[in-house]
Amino acid sequence: MTHQDILHWLTCEDDGELETLWRRADETRAASVGDEIYLRGLVEVSNYCCRLCTYCGLRADNSSLYRYRMDADEVVDCARQAVSFGYGTVVLQAGEDFHLSGEWFEDVISRIKSETPVAVTLSLGERKPAELERWKKAGADRYLLRFETSNRNLFDKIHPPRTPNEYSDRMDLLRTLSEIGYEVGSGVMIGIPGQTWADLANDILAFSGWDLDMVGVGPFIPHPATPLGNPSPSDFAAPTEQVPATELMTYKTLALTRLLCPTVNLPATTALATINPKQGRELALKRGANIIMPNITPLKYRTRYEIYPGKAAKNETAEETNGKVVGQVSRMGRTIGSGRGDSPHYRKNKVLNAHLKEL
Ligand code: SF4
Repeated sequence: MTHQDILHWLTCEDDGELETLWRRADETRAASVGDEIYLRGLVEVSNYCCRLCTYCGLRADNSSLYRYRMDADEVVDCARQAVSFGYGTVVLQAGEDFHLSGEWFEDVISRIKSETPVAVTLSLGERKPAELERWKKAGADRYLLRFETSNRNLFDKIHPPRTPNEYSDRMDLLRTLSEIGYEVGSGVMIGIPGQTWADLANDILAFSGWDLDMVGVGPFIPHPATPLGNPSPSDFAAPTEQVPATELMTYKTLALTRLLCPTVNLPATTALATINPKQGRELALKRGANIIMPNITPLKYRTRYEIYPGKAAKNETAEETNGKVVGQVSRMGRTIGSGRGDSPHYRKNKVLNAHLKEL
């Protein structure tokens, strides 16, 4: 699919034509990753962050947010609970919180891996390569780091560096993660002020060009306590160029990603379930997605992990969230996958690399 083809689909408003896109994405999903939907238990370990991303409610200067850090026992308890729900993966997510050291995470990962059978996915921001290696050795399996936009100027605008002398290079870090041996996930936000149609088409091409194993896409949802919660007209691209932050644009991006990257794992993201609580997740699963990440963070913390406002399931217990998700999958006539649910794309590359080493 060319850049021009992608632009055509992104700007298409013909319902009949879009039905074709949804059907092709769903057929490709069924043929490439099967009918199972894999569940990943999401644990929001800490909402401290040292960064100032202009769209995120966890940014360091948001003084209205009550901060928390879970302790190691609480995190391991969540992993046990994930096992009791039958999940094959836990996702440990946090802001860039360097108070939680490389050693602390190493200990938590080792405990989870020795006490449970789950795969461990990390989503901890831009951490040092030495830490990433250390966590892989401790048993971590996957790493998620969204690049949000492949437009370097826009990336720099919304991701101020940690310190004035530091250069944030998420692409380089994604390469490092892959070299270390992680199953690597990334993704983008749809409708960031300043994001053009051409930018988004480039993002979608980048998913396959960068050989990712997992891709997450969600709409931009403004947070009032951030600079992009009150954007100025100059933040936006020209009206004919600006990508809208809509549900429909997110489904289109999801479906196109499935067509371009048939064997990746694609979650029906919480952001979609937030803007359409009734159907967002289900429609995503019918338009290319094959993963759900039910939130299993203890209730006392989860309202505080507010990257954007109104997040789905923020007032539910882990049991309630699990019950809803399981019911949703069964009503769709799909089955919940058992085991880790590794990305078929990753499995294929691993076999290929092992084979190449033998030559
Ligand atoms: S997007 Fe991530 S790194 Fe940026 S402020 Fe939010 S939690 Fe921190």
